Amino acid sequence: MTTPDEALAIVLENTPRLEAVEVPLVEAVGARLAEPVASDIDLPPFDKSAMDGYAARARDLHATPVELEIIEELPAGVAPTKEVGPGQCTKIMTGAPVPAGADMVVIVEDTETAGDGRVRILQADPKSRNICACGEDIRKGRTVLEAGHAVRPSEVGLLASVGRDRVQVYRRPRVAVLGTGNELAPITETPGPGQIRDANSWSLLAACRRAGVEAERLGVAKDEEADLREMIGAGLARDVLLVSGGVSMGEWDLVPKVFDAFGVAVHFATIRMKPGKPTVFATHGSGIIFGLPGNPVSTLVAWRLFVWPAIRKMMGHPEPAPPPVHGRLTAPVTVGGKRTTFMPVRLRSERSGWTVEPVTTRGSADLVGFSRADALAILEPGTYETGTEVRAVPLEL
Ligand code: AMP
Ligand code: MG
Repeated sequence: MTTPDEALAIVLENTPRLEAVEVPLVEAVGARLAEPVASDIDLPPFDKSAMDGYAARARDLHATPVELEIIEELPAGVAPTKEVGPGQCTKIMTGAPVPAGADMVVIVEDTETAGDGRVRILQADPKSRNICACGEDIRKGRTVLEAGHAVRPSEVGLLASVGRDRVQVYRRPRVAVLGTGNELAPITETPGPGQIRDANSWSLLAACRRAGVEAERLGVAKDEEADLREMIGAGLARDVLLVSGGVSMGEWDLVPKVFDAFGVAVHFATIRMKPGKPTVFATHGSGIIFGLPGNPVSTLVAWRLFVWPAIRKMMGHPEPAPPPVHGRLTAPVTVGGKRTTFMPVRLRSERSGWTVEPVTTRGSADLVGFSRADALAILEPGTYETGTEVRAVPLEL
């Protein structure tokens, strides 16, 4: 049976990176750049005051206190008209261009007014000139961001600074989510006999949104071939189709049969892991398809371990599956069976590093227990004492 590491490798090998698209600047946040970006100007574009104060000549300030004549006032956005000469200064605000002749800005806190258009400099530290030199951040024409770089709020600010109102990013996948099961009731109804509410189509939509993609909920299919065919058929046009439930060994678990009927290429249908054993991965043209286990915890575990990295790969992430963190168990743990267990835990940052605290859960249907976890410890069968270093996958990054 496929191991979790093998399964991840198969998923990533068979998942394409999507093409580049041009989007308006703010829509790029959460995506990855598909082009290197160069600056169209020097940054900063002029010698800029970093502080409110007085622009003066350092050689006039060797002995303090000293009085200087104020020849001009410069708010941000106003260009200087006068050169600062011996014994002179310009009153300057943060962000304003430093006038010719001046080579430092004395902060306003180190001055007092002397009346009659003059200022008294009480002290001046020649080591803090308080000037951001023209081009000191980046020179015109130089690359400020490489292709593949994450667009975060700071990159949006940088892209705006270098004149980009549109930018090329890797396209986000179009994702469709389908629940399956005759027993599933809508959120707004009290479940009848034998029914439970559909949790997974919603949790999977939410998981996709967290990954920066808007998924479409196709609804819930009955455990009937005709219904499954129609709804899975509709989802095959998407870049990613997520089907929850109907993939185990039961008589009514018809999803693999319907996948077969559509002629999709199934790469694996079970993984040697707990929970999440019945996880199916298939491809169809450039689209990828996951059959996720129906139990609400299992579906989210499989999503985190396999779907999330696939979505990141599609979006051009250079490291779709970051390595797990290492931490020490806060309690002894025994793992039975023969499969790799992904155990719900809480990660805490301590002075000595991360600690891994198992949370009490009643298994793969227990979303109450799972809600206390923020990571999955990766444990092979065996007995682990308190303090043992283990690996864990954070649920959210
Ligand atoms: P299955 O994989 O379809 O055999 O489902 C396994 C278990 O998960 C069963 O107890 C189902 O009732 C439950 N289940 C399946 N789909 C959902 C869903 N969308 N929301 C909540 N529970 C589900
Ligand atoms: Mg089912």
